[in-house]
Amino acid sequence: MHCPFCATPDTRVIDSRLADDGDQVRRRRECIECGERFTTYETAELNMPRVVKQDGSRQLFSEDKLRSGMTKALEKRPVSTEQIEASVHRIKHKLLSAGEREIMARKIGEWVMEELKGLDQVAYIRFASVYLSFENVDAFREAIEKLEQKE
Ligand SMILES: [Zn+2]
Repeated sequence: MHCPFCATPDTRVIDSRLADDGDQVRRRRECIECGERFTTYETAELNMPRVVKQDGSRQLFSEDKLRSGMTKALEKRPVSTEQIEASVHRIKHKLLSAGEREIMARKIGEWVMEELKGLDQVAYIRFASVYLSFENVDAFREAIEKLEQKE
């Protein structure tokens, strides 16, 4: 994005959020050269970012995968489809308003855990055990502690 004041190509995003209609991203940018700030409304980049996995491989964000991961954790739990959809929507919203082209899979996992923590504790533990145990035991312990703190 070129600076409209001095035309330098280096500008920095200082704030990024979805516009009210949800179809555009409103960004505050700052020029690295002249320090001027300006706002842009961008639609072209509303594509979902690519997800960077632990091994460094990239893949397109998949809403279906997100939903099925959450649904699996919530199997036989007293949580409605509407609640799951609302969570999926909030996570997508975060993804879009982050305005990044790539996002760490770990970050999405954290968002899912936040959502599940609010929805159902059993599902939260299920997800955390699958999601975190591969990485390390400490992270899993930390997740359990967070749950305990809430009570
Ligand atoms: Zn400038």
